[in-house]
Amino acid sequence: DGLDADVRKLTDKRSKVLGESYRLFYRKPVHLVRGEGQYLWDAAGDKYLDVYNNVASIGHCHPAVIDAVYQQMQQLNTHTRYLHERILDYSEELLATMPGEIDRAMYMCTGSEANDLAIRVARAYSGGTGIIVSQEAYHGTSDLTSGVSPALGTGQPLAATTRLVSPPDRYRVTAPDLGDWFAGEIQKQIDDMAANGIKFAGFLADSIFSSDGVLPGPKGFLKKAVDVVHKNGGIFIADEVQPGFARTGDAFWGFARHGVVPDIVTTGKPMGNGIPVSALLAKSDVLASFSDDIPYFNTFGGNPVAMAAAQAVLKVIKEEGLQEHSRVVGDELLRELLTLKDKYDCVGDVRGAGLFIGFELVTDKASKTPDKQLALDVTEKLRDNHVLTSVAGPYGNVLKLRPPLAFQRSDIDWLVGALDKSLAELGK
Ligand code: PMP
Repeated sequence: DGLDADVRKLTDKRSKVLGESYRLFYRKPVHLVRGEGQYLWDAAGDKYLDVYNNVASIGHCHPAVIDAVYQQMQQLNTHTRYLHERILDYSEELLATMPGEIDRAMYMCTGSEANDLAIRVARAYSGGTGIIVSQEAYHGTSDLTSGVSPALGTGQPLAATTRLVSPPDRYRVTAPDLGDWFAGEIQKQIDDMAANGIKFAGFLADSIFSSDGVLPGPKGFLKKAVDVVHKNGGIFIADEVQPGFARTGDAFWGFARHGVVPDIVTTGKPMGNGIPVSALLAKSDVLASFSDDIPYFNTFGGNPVAMAAAQAVLKVIKEEGLQEHSRVVGDELLRELLTLKDKYDCVGDVRGAGLFIGFELVTDKASKTPDKQLALDVTEKLRDNHVLTSVAGPYGNVLKLRPPLAFQRSDIDWLVGALDKSLAELGK
């Protein structure tokens, strides 16, 4: 099978000791042993450009996070049933990045836990159960969140209270006003719930629709959809697990690109640069409907070490100007990628916000027929050129380009060159 002995040994061992739901990337799996900034190294010493991982958001092994965690770990690590400054200081800092109405923070360890609690709060507040998500959404691993995660496929049934909306795909939706169209789609699903005796609780969405194929849409287009949600007594939960923490360049939060104020915001992945920490942020009156009756305790959530990591991340984003960096370098990368769109008939659409870009592969521009096989082949070719990416979207034909924010101008040539070479080698 052409695998190195080292890789073969590890894949064999994985299949003996790990649960079978795990999926490895690549025909030739990558065995990573070290990371720094936007780069990763494998066991053979080969260097890779990371264009996929937003967890190590401020850069792999960032010294500020290592130091903060090390210092706090030496002093104390316990839970939220004792007083501690860090959780309070961090909450003030984090809430300061949000619209003023959002004034309460709670902490967990994963995005799944944050969304799970968000659904429970939405239900307590609205008195309804119905949740709307996008067609290919992924929101987590728990029973509640997997029930609103169609991306998991047909093996994972959706909850009876879940309704799906078509994603706001500017490349494929022909309606002149994407915002009006999308708001109409939401209204249809709310009406369908009503017709089936389900009271609407809320709309849960990743504002860049990453698993739907990375669909940033025009700034502001979500506003009408959020208005429809509120008019129908539901709440808007912004899942910021992917677009949050300066990623989109235009704003610190994905929802802020659209000028909307969510009722609940959930975060995860980039928040601690790899240390497990996630949060639910909410308007106090929305949260009160739940927390007045039900206690919440998360053993590891909000512990001093997690808070130290999160504080360091927020500080580095500000000190290193990473939001502006994401906007500027993301714009430049997008422009370079658009030259490939001009060059190849199989590159149907390139879109993005900051360092979050979707590169859509089709059989040809005229038909827009999704080319999943090509996307897979390109991903494998990129891997051979030591560039790590993955695919997204309902057809699996969109390359998801979402590097650590440590990605630099000087990395653009490596990525775009490898993409160009891959497409050429595949006879495009
Ligand atoms: N929401 C979104 C949009 C995600 O991308 C993910 C993780 N891929 C989650 C929620 C779940 O986060 P976690 O894996 O930390 O539970």
